[in-house]
Amino acid sequence: MANQDEQFKKVISHAKEYGFVFPSSEIYDGLSAVYDYAQNGVELKNNIRQYWWKAMVQLHENIVGIDAAIFMHPTAWKASGHVDAFNDPLIDNKDSKKRYRADVLVEDYVAKIEAKIEKEVAKAEKRFGEAFDKEQFVSTNPRVLEYKATADAILKRLARSLENENLADVKALIEELEIADPETGSKNWTDVKQFNLMFGTKLGASAESAMDLYLRPETAQGIFVNFLNVQKTGRMKIPFGIAQTGKAFRNEIVARQFIFRMREFEQMEMQFFIKPGTQKEWYEEWKQTRLKWHLSLGMGADNYRFHDHEKLAHYADAAADIEFKFPFGFKELEGIHSRTDFDLGNHEKFSGRKLQYFDPEENKSYVPYVVETSIGLDRMFLAVLSNSLQEEELENNTSRTVLKLPAVLAPVKAAVLPLVKKDGLPEVARNIVDDLKWSFNVDYDEKDAVGRRYRRQDAVGTPFCITVDHDTLKDDTVTIRHRDTMEQKRVKINELKDIIQQEVDMRTWLMKM
Ligand code: ATP
Repeated sequence: MANQDEQFKKVISHAKEYGFVFPSSEIYDGLSAVYDYAQNGVELKNNIRQYWWKAMVQLHENIVGIDAAIFMHPTAWKASGHVDAFNDPLIDNKDSKKRYRADVLVEDYVAKIEAKIEKEVAKAEKRFGEAFDKEQFVSTNPRVLEYKATADAILKRLARSLENENLADVKALIEELEIADPETGSKNWTDVKQFNLMFGTKLGASAESAMDLYLRPETAQGIFVNFLNVQKTGRMKIPFGIAQTGKAFRNEIVARQFIFRMREFEQMEMQFFIKPGTQKEWYEEWKQTRLKWHLSLGMGADNYRFHDHEKLAHYADAAADIEFKFPFGFKELEGIHSRTDFDLGNHEKFSGRKLQYFDPEENKSYVPYVVETSIGLDRMFLAVLSNSLQEEELENNTSRTVLKLPAVLAPVKAAVLPLVKKDGLPEVARNIVDDLKWSFNVDYDEKDAVGRRYRRQDAVGTPFCITVDHDTLKDDTVTIRHRDTMEQKRVKINELKDIIQQEVDMRTWLMKM
């Protein structure tokens, strides 16, 4: 645990020190769970968004994108169920006055049981060596089975109580498990209450005529209300998808995990409209497609797992998370939800408009079903950043901090460095920058010894450093250094573009899907 905390702290301070993420309004001591993306952060974030957009929209003939407004007619949030049901169960500790999500307290308790299972597995693996069969071990070892049964029973009871709005039982569960305030150890809890996560605001100048609005808590509803507009103007045939990326706002009860849980964040969502009855196949299909997208980035298959939901949101008939191994353990990165006709059906009811599709094959109209994929851009950013940050021991007893970002996502693709600030080397370096900048985001750096400049670029994850020296003046060659291997090669200036392109091209990466 201590190790994990250390690693997470390193990620947060690296993000600040190297211009990725700053606390919002820092000169006023920040604003809780709100963050600003800095010069390198915004490039990384844009690249992640583009990588998603390319894969989801431009590579699918039957998926198109939109960009809906953040404000929506307030009735839309009645129809979507958010006014009545977008709640989290909160609990306060009477001694520490700290507020928690009751469900998260219980889930964290279960995570500790799961950690014990992992420990048993690791011990056994050590004991049995090569011959170890993990699957067999976890399905037969009595201690592991007991842990698993306990964890399952707790999660089932939590799901049942939340579903039935039995908040007294959620509190009873917390008391029975003797869950204490993680910060103070106190077990003196209030009752569990529901808390609506939507931010309210007003539209209009005068108090009487003002209309109560919400900042959207998800981007999905902007897609649903535009379903027919897009279907008609784009002549879309079912199955088809509508995608969008954009800000969402949630008044989260507990937000203490950097950009993992923010009050203002960005989502990348795609709603896939299908024929009723085909939702199981499409749900499975999108689960696999989305996992493949993640795996294409090469951040390690072991760092992902599916988590099927016990408790379903008010709109879903099946739901799974793609969880990622963050520095603080496996947590939700993306959700795949089979939303049935809940949303379109309700918008029909509340708006009085028909939101149906005429299916020429079936020769009838129906309200389509929907399978949704929804990923937090900021969470993805954190996954990429935390997974890439490495401390590497080098041969000469030194070490380096290197951000091994997937090259396709790196904020700066190449840095061009004149060996010295004279003899015409800066001019040649600038010429190279002026040419490459049309194809990639490149940097020019002439300050400090070249070794220090390499380290600086390693720390922001730049895949290539190009050094211009005196030989360059004679034969038009430069040294190109690779971030991960630190290997240096002498190449012609006119080969640079192809070398960089090969490694950072989205096509190469997405073809792995
Ligand atoms: P959680 O259980 O962590 O609160 P959720 O299940 O409410 O998340 P969804 O409503 O399914 O999340 O939203 C889809 C995605 O949006 C999530 O998988 C996550 O990546 C992202 N997301 C949700 N809430 C936040 C937040 N407060 N900050 C950053 N990203 C978020």
